[in-house]
Amino acid sequence: MVDCCSVPGLLPFDQALAKMLDNITPVKETEQVLIEEALDRVLSKVIVSPLNVPPHNNSAMDGYAFSLSSLDHLHRLKLVGRSMAGEPFQGECLQGECIRIMTGAKMPKGCDSVEMQENCEALIQDSTSKNSFSKDEPNRLIRFLHPQKIGNHIRFAGEDIKKNQVVFEKGRKLSAIDIGVLASLGVPTVNVFRKLTVALISTGDELKLPGKELKEGDIFESNSFTLAAMLEKMNINVLKLGVVKDDKAAITDAFVKADKEADAIFSSGGVSVGDADYTKIVLDELGDISFWKIAMKPGKPFAFGRLINSVFFGLPGNPVSATVTAHMLAVPALAKMQNCPNATPIKLQVKTVTDIRKSPGRIDFQRGVLSTHSNGEMMVTSTGNQGSGVLTSLAKANCYIILPAEQGNLKANEVVTVQLFDAIIQH
Ligand code: AMP
Ligand code: MG
Repeated sequence: MVDCCSVPGLLPFDQALAKMLDNITPVKETEQVLIEEALDRVLSKVIVSPLNVPPHNNSAMDGYAFSLSSLDHLHRLKLVGRSMAGEPFQGECLQGECIRIMTGAKMPKGCDSVEMQENCEALIQDSTSKNSFSKDEPNRLIRFLHPQKIGNHIRFAGEDIKKNQVVFEKGRKLSAIDIGVLASLGVPTVNVFRKLTVALISTGDELKLPGKELKEGDIFESNSFTLAAMLEKMNINVLKLGVVKDDKAAITDAFVKADKEADAIFSSGGVSVGDADYTKIVLDELGDISFWKIAMKPGKPFAFGRLINSVFFGLPGNPVSATVTAHMLAVPALAKMQNCPNATPIKLQVKTVTDIRKSPGRIDFQRGVLSTHSNGEMMVTSTGNQGSGVLTSLAKANCYIILPAEQGNLKANEVVTVQLFDAIIQH
């Protein structure tokens, strides 16, 4: 067994993440947006409810409202009026009386219970039709067929949200449901932190954009596409600066432009030992960047630091390494910059269906498929070739199999830790 911290020259993953988070300052600027434009925006101010939701006691059923104590031994009450949604009964319901009530209608004064119409013998021609019943036809008798309970079928004022209650804390990223909750409070606009902009730069003489022709030795550039889509899922503006040749002037121009326009820069490629020359020279001139070898697999080489205006993330070039380091290291940093730190991911302990190869020394984020077997037990299966260039190993997967640095090979049926993919890299 090898302790990760004792591997010479390698920075443990947790330390790398902590160092990065320490160097991130959340954005301060805010703006006001309409709630219909606030999906995935981060609240810069707490939301306090200006009212009770629902605002008044109302019926959860179509039926009859009454006071339980006024039911006689024959369980009959006289129908004296109606309360419709948006058209409440104006008078008071007295002893021996009941009120026709519809779902969502305000509870009439003098009533403490509702019975659904299916449990009543309504001595009117058509108990379900609004038109068949009018104030001109009062005094019909309604018989209640089943024993009652006070408060039956009532939705009480404030049972969802109380007036002055804190509904959402500052730093909440608004979901689709949250937008609905805000509407239910009558809140038309919210204060949110401004959106981040991240610039993307791909370095490498061999990279060609999809649609272009490949010459001998070329490959299609994919990192900026994966990364742009991930950033869009985080509701971050993406500035695509394209492919930059392994050339000092070109790299300098791209980094200077990116630094002027973006809060953060993702570059991919050119950070491994050997080909880091230009990137490293340029970054040393422009800012304060550390070149790390992180004790993680995939993704050992990684650069992080500050340029004049922006935070720089130098991701490895291999597509799996670029994606996993972006997901595991840069995403939490950007979430902090957005004022919305990541929730702690849920990790599960499950058996592996397959043997797993792993050499001790680095934390490994292998790609797996978590599924429920016929016996009801959840198990994980490796997606096969775990090479750092095999992007389909990520596309096929739905979780990481997280193997601690000191872990060696595993046999089928041994227990491993898995972390389900989040919405940033999957649906
Ligand atoms: P590098 O870190 O520049 O040495 O790149 C490592 C490997 O990743 C090489 O095989 C590169 O061709 C490949 N690579 C680098 N950047 C990209 C990219 N943007 N898209 C796809 N593959 C890349
Ligand atoms: Mg390269």
